[in-house]
Amino acid sequence: MKNPKYIFVVGGVMSSVGKGVTNSSIGLLLQARGYKVTAVKADAYINVDAGTMNPTEHGEVFVTEDGDETDQDIGNYERFLDENIYSVNYMTTGRVYLDVINRERNLEYKGKCVEVVPHIPENIIKRIKDAQKKSQADIVVIEIGGTVGEYQNILFLEAARMMKIKHPNDVAFVLVSFLPVPSTVGEMKTKPTQHAVRLLNETGIQPDFIVCRAESVLDKKRRHKLALFCSVPGDHVIPAPDVTHIYAVPAILEKEQLSSKLLQVLKLRPKKVTLSKNRFLQMNKLVQTIQTVKKTVTIGIVGKYFNTGDFVLADSYLSVIEALKHAAWHQRHQVKLIWIDSEEYEKDKRRLSELKKTDGVLIPGGFGKRGVAGKIMAIEYVREHQIPYFGLCYGMQLAAVEIARHLAKLPGANTVEIEEHPEHPIIFVNPHQQKNIAQKHYGGTMRLGAYDCKLVNNTKARKAYGKQLIKERHRHRYEFNNAYLAPLAKAGLIVSGINPQQNLVEIMELKNHPWFVGTQFHPEFLSRPLNPHPLFIGFLKAAIKHKN
Ligand code: GLN
Repeated sequence: MKNPKYIFVVGGVMSSVGKGVTNSSIGLLLQARGYKVTAVKADAYINVDAGTMNPTEHGEVFVTEDGDETDQDIGNYERFLDENIYSVNYMTTGRVYLDVINRERNLEYKGKCVEVVPHIPENIIKRIKDAQKKSQADIVVIEIGGTVGEYQNILFLEAARMMKIKHPNDVAFVLVSFLPVPSTVGEMKTKPTQHAVRLLNETGIQPDFIVCRAESVLDKKRRHKLALFCSVPGDHVIPAPDVTHIYAVPAILEKEQLSSKLLQVLKLRPKKVTLSKNRFLQMNKLVQTIQTVKKTVTIGIVGKYFNTGDFVLADSYLSVIEALKHAAWHQRHQVKLIWIDSEEYEKDKRRLSELKKTDGVLIPGGFGKRGVAGKIMAIEYVREHQIPYFGLCYGMQLAAVEIARHLAKLPGANTVEIEEHPEHPIIFVNPHQQKNIAQKHYGGTMRLGAYDCKLVNNTKARKAYGKQLIKERHRHRYEFNNAYLAPLAKAGLIVSGINPQQNLVEIMELKNHPWFVGTQFHPEFLSRPLNPHPLFIGFLKAAIKHKN
């Protein structure tokens, strides 16, 4: 398209109102109108990427195909748009400043005085345009992290304002706001949203739409009030009540014909889309199916990010949870999750028997020493009790350690991540990584992004994928030590996937067990609601079989 279009999604009143899902849903709706869409996230923090942050602080670190460690919302974009989102689509304040300062050091500003304004917003605009160019998108939906009125995201808003001034017909603004219903009053209040619009106006931006997140549907009276006080047409005030599944959000927004109205603002017409390509309709079909599914399957997730409540948990393991749901729905089941803090097993071994209540156990990625002993105890238990097991990254590495210690009779087996010089370094670190660790080069230096994997015939993995060559996304520093291949194979370990370029073990499984599979990569990043991941389907099938 000659003039690509840009839609900025900003948040009002408070965080966690669903900007990411709104941004993703708008993207999906516009795809269904025949446009090529990509999504961008601008995060306000100084960290150059999300890789150096604890998931309990910031949520999951989502890894892109090209190896960027990004915000969990990028995962939502991929799941909704069914498109890969690349590193150019992600920025943080830190990344923008680092780039501007490096350019200044390289004399790229040709002797000019480099200033916060306009140079920082200009760099932001360049990034948004680069994302458009890379994907050749007709429309870019851009989510600005944080809430209006914060000091933190002001330069992103300034960039958006500058784009609107330059391309008035090509830029639209959506404010996602929250309307509380205080229990003492019992009615929905619009005032915080009115204030949010005022704050946005102060930055020189007038929203074209207000998406009203609330427990329930915003009524007519309040809709008119918001329209009048916020200078937005009444039919651009969009009610967005809570829903049970995020995948139902596009339908909620489309009830108000949001996509047609957005196209009108951007001076575009809808295009014809064949039924088979209309992902909005397919998503609605999925949502309907989900509602009719009654059977349940119980999966225990054994991890350690458990100190801050359920909410944080769900965020720390977002893609894993989504991947489990996608696969369970595919098998016409609802997945029930049990969160298990592995440290509890270290305190009381008897608690392990609770794993019998699960139909399958998953150990997701992780770092460091805390909780590792308990995880290994859980792995031993499910291995012995023939409970389906799925280990992701650390979950694979610790399974290898468990097998080495208890089946290959190498009690001194360990990962060098937690013991510098174990007798048997089953999981070790290659020389190139050793240098990073010694020099404390931690940011963005893990094995990151998509790598090839060749599957071995007659294995569970090969059967699940139904093909031999795959590509999966990685995020780890340590690897399986091939020096231990022979003794572990003798003990029943099967290597079912190898990276052909570097001869690295990527998938392993165990003989004589219904489903004991570990992956060095993170399959959860590739699962999409309309296209669940084959290994998650395999795991869920095994769990359902175990249940019955
Ligand atoms: N801590 C392990 C490593 O760095 C596993 C990482 C992960 O699970 N993502 O290799």
